[in-house]
Amino acid sequence: MLEAAKTLKETSALPAVCGRVCPQEKQCEAKCIHLKMNKPAVAIGHLERFAADYERESGQMSVPEIAQPNGIKIAAVGSGPAGLSFAGDMAKLGYDVTVFEALHEIGGVLKYGIPEFRLPNHIVDVEIENLAKMGVKFIKNCIVGKTISFDDLKEDGFRAMFVASGAGLPNFMNIKGENLIGVMSSNEYLTRVNLMGAASDDTDTPVLKGKHVAVIGGGNTAMDSVRTARRLGAERAMIVYRRSEEEMPARLEEVKHAKEEGIDFLTLHNPVEYRGDEKGRVTAMLLQKMELGEPDASGRRKPVEIKGAQEWVDVDEVIVSVGVSPNPLVPSSVDGLEVSSKGTILVSDENMQSSIPTIFAGGDIVRGGATVILAMGDGRKAAAAMHAKIVSGEI
Ligand SMILES: Cc1cc2nc3c(=O)[nH]c(=O)nc-3n(C[C@H](O)[C@H](O)[C@H](O)COP(=O)(O)OP(=O)(O)OC[C@H]3O[C@@H](n4cnc5c(N)ncnc54)[C@H](O)[C@@H]3O)c2cc1C
Repeated sequence: MLEAAKTLKETSALPAVCGRVCPQEKQCEAKCIHLKMNKPAVAIGHLERFAADYERESGQMSVPEIAQPNGIKIAAVGSGPAGLSFAGDMAKLGYDVTVFEALHEIGGVLKYGIPEFRLPNHIVDVEIENLAKMGVKFIKNCIVGKTISFDDLKEDGFRAMFVASGAGLPNFMNIKGENLIGVMSSNEYLTRVNLMGAASDDTDTPVLKGKHVAVIGGGNTAMDSVRTARRLGAERAMIVYRRSEEEMPARLEEVKHAKEEGIDFLTLHNPVEYRGDEKGRVTAMLLQKMELGEPDASGRRKPVEIKGAQEWVDVDEVIVSVGVSPNPLVPSSVDGLEVSSKGTILVSDENMQSSIPTIFAGGDIVRGGATVILAMGDGRKAAAAMHAKIVSGEI
């Protein structure tokens, strides 16, 4: 089993994390040869998780070989899966790596987004400790672009940087009543609970614990929010999703677990308005019933309104989980850094290099809200490419 864990680590920086959160049914398990024989796929995700957990609990975690230190300082901005996998690969190559993180905890969405019941924090912490053992330095509470600038980093002798600042800006639907008390983003809700201890009674960062909670959206973030609401005492916790269950982007397992926990799935429904009481607190949502039309640009069948089919449903809390946008601070604080119309940093597909040769980028700040495995892959690709360019003297 220890050998299995070692083999996994040759290509994955965080197997205990991936074994828990990757949409395996769309990735490795979708390619399993058993499917061609009309049998269920080998449970690759669960095996990955087991091997990584076994290694960690055995106390015999393998430490990768580290090249001789070369004294070259490299910065990573953001400590999510992209920043961490980049830092690990650069440390292995002998670089002096510092990860700058805006929050008071290292781990990005792995810590502040994905709840403890799905990805315990101590599992992420072990990976961070391993990176620290490999020589990676972590600076918390440091917002690059505000606390320090990119010019400061350059002056401090950082030869190159990898921007992995994620997509932490929540989207809203801009419908009537969205400003009522009790309507908030998943980002705020989950951060309060996962990072600021809002579930405990003595926290100074509490969160509303609604009894009739609607979560708008059908992705992993929506599932995490609705299952959290249930754990915080919601008698009726609902997913409101405008397409059908088949189109839901969430991992299959999350949907299954949510159902087992008694979550109501209002699929083919879309909120169009919220109503509040005299104190401005949300009390109800108006849902528009939908049906599926022709496929849209995403290849999924488009939700179309059924005329006249609307209903009011009582709620005392609404959590909006309809996607995220890139954190705008880094892109806006560097002159000459090219970004797309959506605010993502533009990089070469081949090597993750931006329009500024010493700045590479990857993960959600490049892709928009995507996945852990893609973020990690970007970090590794950027590390290999940055190393090659430093060795060749290009940067
Ligand atoms: C609730 C939730 C559940 C999810 N579930 C899954 C799942 O089950 N499976 C899956 O594959 N994906 C899932 N995802 C998506 C996945 O977590 C992200 O795609 C992934 O974390 C992106 O990694 P990243 O390193 O690019 O950014 P992030 O993880 O967002 O990390 C970025 C970090 O950069 C920091 N930062 C931002 N700006 C600055 C700055 N200026 N200076 C310093 N630091 C800065 C942020 O504080 C943050 O810590 C989920 C996302 C959410 C929100």
